[in-house]
Amino acid sequence: MVKRILVSNDDGVHAPGIKALVAALEDLAEITVVAPLAEQSASSHALTLHRPLRIKEIAPRTFAVEGTPTDCVLLAIREFLGQKPDLVVSGINQGPNLGEDVLYSGTVAAAMEGSLLGVGSVALSLASWRYTDFAAAGQVARRLVSRLLRRELPPRFLVNVNIPPRPVEEIRGFRLAQLGSRVYNDAVVKKTDPRGRDYYWIGGAEPTWKPSPDSDFAAIEEGYVSLTPLLLDLTSPTGFGYLSGIDLEWP
Ligand code: MN
Repeated sequence: MVKRILVSNDDGVHAPGIKALVAALEDLAEITVVAPLAEQSASSHALTLHRPLRIKEIAPRTFAVEGTPTDCVLLAIREFLGQKPDLVVSGINQGPNLGEDVLYSGTVAAAMEGSLLGVGSVALSLASWRYTDFAAAGQVARRLVSRLLRRELPPRFLVNVNIPPRPVEEIRGFRLAQLGSRVYNDAVVKKTDPRGRDYYWIGGAEPTWKPSPDSDFAAIEEGYVSLTPLLLDLTSPTGFGYLSGIDLEWP
């Protein structure tokens, strides 16, 4: 039976990364693209609730939505596709989605939405803003997705994948990795405008990472494709332990 894949992203339906992804997966499954019309990077898990959404077919099996990545996946799975796809694949994002940055990422949010709606999902990112050749990343996507289509996925499966910016012969393989942890220095740059008023720029400096050999960041640095399965249940066992130890007597 032919498999069906829903493809989305946050760089927009016209981005080179989504085109490379579709080209790489085309003969593995029936692909439907439902992606934002405009770039929505760092839109996180935003939903559009206060205006109508329209879906426009811009090419065969390729649909643009004037909304967020989450809007796209929600509309596609709950309404538009008619039946659930076998897999949601989001990307290939231009730029890394490592460590805590997954919480801001529209690429990851699209995959997360798929997983929340009961479809196994993959988020793919090329871990560089400057390396614009998606050939190797497309091959990585193809290798991984063909394997994921072969076996039934566990419930709420969601994997965050980062691909090192290098030719495919120089990629060392897949590595299972933990989410790394960012060091937040110079995350906000404060300047003064020509009228003497302060303004702020978020994400001014290149990120740095706490050293950790099993992190996604380390995998990328060493030339591996990082695979990090993510949980949707954000309940904290330590927070739970702390709160159950304090006096919560009522009133
Ligand atoms: Mn993006």
